[in-house]
Amino acid sequence: MIQDIRTGFGFDVHKLIPGDGLWLGGVFIPCSHSLLGHSDADALLHALCDAIFGTINGGDIGQHFPPTDPQWADRPSKYFVEYAMNMLRKAGGTLINADTLIISETPKINPHRKALQVSIAQLLHLPLERVNIKATTTETLGFTGRKEGLAAQAQVSVHMGTLNV
Ligand code: MG
Repeated sequence: MIQDIRTGFGFDVHKLIPGDGLWLGGVFIPCSHSLLGHSDADALLHALCDAIFGTINGGDIGQHFPPTDPQWADRPSKYFVEYAMNMLRKAGGTLINADTLIISETPKINPHRKALQVSIAQLLHLPLERVNIKATTTETLGFTGRKEGLAAQAQVSVHMGTLNV
């Protein structure tokens, strides 16, 4: 008998436009830009949803919440995470750990790192020490370097019980 431990990963990008702030990890960060997109364009929470779906053969966020469907417009992305967590729970999974990476030139993440960690830990029902927030730039290269967009990656580990093998 072995432990059924699974990993899932997610990646998302949203376009940066001039604005007064943006949602990231369920936290509103006041800054010189906003993120453009369906719902609140919280790329970090969208990447987390896909990571969770990845542990249960759950497809991707676009299948569950099509951007063409007006009912999801301006919907807080916390709702999508709660939906993914519900699917995970119904599948019998327990989240163990979440690791995240924000790739962006702006806003600077460090002053908001703790708030993001607290927000995501609450959403995922995890203690703080099991949620990691990483941030990097691309050294002014590419669309993130030109401040045209913000990218986020997430990886989660899940315990699904035991396998009789
Ligand atoms: Mg998205």
